[in-house]
Amino acid sequence: MNHADVPDADVSSDISTVFLDLDETICEHPRSTGERLADAFDRAGVEPFFDTADFRRWLATVTADSAVELRERCFTSIADEQGRATADALAVARAYEDPNPTGVEFLPGAASALDALAADHELALVTNGDRETQTAKLAALDIADYFDATTFTEPGGPVKPDPDHFHRTLAAMDASADETVHVGNSLRADVAGAHAAGVRSVWLEQPDATADHTPHHTIESMHDLHEPPWV
Ligand SMILES: [Mg+2]
Repeated sequence: MNHADVPDADVSSDISTVFLDLDETICEHPRSTGERLADAFDRAGVEPFFDTADFRRWLATVTADSAVELRERCFTSIADEQGRATADALAVARAYEDPNPTGVEFLPGAASALDALAADHELALVTNGDRETQTAKLAALDIADYFDATTFTEPGGPVKPDPDHFHRTLAAMDASADETVHVGNSLRADVAGAHAAGVRSVWLEQPDATADHTPHHTIESMHDLHEPPWV
């Protein structure tokens, strides 16, 4: 692990502001990525040539302006790696059905963690999803009112780990980086992105994560935020 990307950690705990990622941090779809991927291979008429572990591995290295573009980049990279046809990868990427945003469910502990955090902190959402999709999820979960600012990915705009995504949110919250902590499930997007903006990180641990970024705090589930690790 590389500690060089960890900003100077002020060990005091005057954290007033908490940023949170949305997907796979606060909520998830009950139907798994593996199930949707299997459907996509089926619909595209392509023999399955990779699995969700490959998908996640590439997802951690790729950015794009839309979900379908992100999948195209991941799947064609996997096809390249395996000597498979680019056309097959693109067909699967396009056949992959975006899940219905209103079908999301809370991750264990996430709903009560928002309640607990909101008692002592200002909250903001920092997501790489687009405004329409993510707004639908917030409405379905009835949690929009927790957030004083919400930063979506706009067409052509920055995505995490670009620090601008965090800078925009800090400005919207009128908060400084050193009083802010960001909670997310992606080492690359959330942890490295927060560090690039000088914001402290809390990583929701993932079993198969490999990115070389060291979070300030690691939690096993959102339940762990009931007693914030930075206090
Ligand atoms: Mg996420």
